[in-house]
Amino acid sequence: MYPGRSISSFPDTLLIIYKTTSMKTLEKAEADALCTIVLLGYCQSKKKTPTFVYELKSKEDYSKVKSIFNGLGVQITIQEALPKTENAVIIAETSRTAYYGSNKKIISDIENRLNRSLEKLTEDNLFGAYIGGRSTIAAIELIGSSIIQQYRPRYRAVDSDIEDRYSKAIKNTRGVSGILRENYIPQIDKVKIRLELEPFEPEENSGVRPGFQDQYLPGHLFKSIHGMVASMILFAFVDDKNAFNFELAYSRGTTKVASCFPCCAFMTANGVPPSATHLGRGDNWNLPDPNLRNVTYLKKPWVEKINEWYQMGMKVLADKRKTTAWHDMGFSGSDVHEVFLEALTFEGPFTQKVIDTTFEEQKVSGG
Ligand SMILES: [Zn+2]
Repeated sequence: MYPGRSISSFPDTLLIIYKTTSMKTLEKAEADALCTIVLLGYCQSKKKTPTFVYELKSKEDYSKVKSIFNGLGVQITIQEALPKTENAVIIAETSRTAYYGSNKKIISDIENRLNRSLEKLTEDNLFGAYIGGRSTIAAIELIGSSIIQQYRPRYRAVDSDIEDRYSKAIKNTRGVSGILRENYIPQIDKVKIRLELEPFEPEENSGVRPGFQDQYLPGHLFKSIHGMVASMILFAFVDDKNAFNFELAYSRGTTKVASCFPCCAFMTANGVPPSATHLGRGDNWNLPDPNLRNVTYLKKPWVEKINEWYQMGMKVLADKRKTTAWHDMGFSGSDVHEVFLEALTFEGPFTQKVIDTTFEEQKVSGG
């Protein structure tokens, strides 16, 4: 259970999503602009200037984003990320933070074993994986890195390189699962490992295929359900006030121990914002099928927030008389959150999405 959320807000009906028929096919320019608009709205909605952390190599891109947003009247703070040795864990922050102490030693034991295993890896078999988990008084449960599921797109066409990207994603997830098993992590006292969300029946006609499938299904995109999201969903109703969700960064290269913006949006909407956020990749970020336990409950506030931030972002641009490629999409529905999910399948860091977005002067009609 997350702060500010109560069981009484559990929705009676599932969201029904209608495709906006007048909408054009979503392409990269429109997708990047939509991601930028949602991010702008999120930043604008914050009472305190939001902070994004960067690795040194991407400092320049973060500075560009800061100045683009500044030009639109939206302030952000950018900061170099702490090295992994000083801060290895992303925490979904609750109103109680003192609890971390008791399990800190166990979490750092897991981390040490993971770090040692990294030394044995060859260069190309992993990139920036994050392992989600839940810490309670009774146990530390780890859920492997991103869970991958295939689905049929509604708004965009499928690129020719999708099969390749899919097999890379599967390989990455399987790699992390193997590493968790092979490094004696399950033998640490209190540690339990779960590698899949429970089996479920996908909604009819949703096009979602449950579970991992090595084989790519033609015409499909894939969802990447990040460790933090999987952990929040699996353990949404753990009755332990001191419980919290966390993510460990599993990568040799990364010093950036922070949530991606899509995770940050989901966590913030559910009242447990991340301890740090970056503007790097959130490629193919998605939520599991609503038929899985707890998904609808956690999805509802996220839908509301994405819509709210979208409206705020559009207002920021309207106030500055700016338009983007997204403005020409002919979008008029309330399912912007669903379009946003498909926009995330155009892979790339959020910094690049912002930099690649062209803001044109709005034409004033009637002279
Ligand atoms: Zn994420």
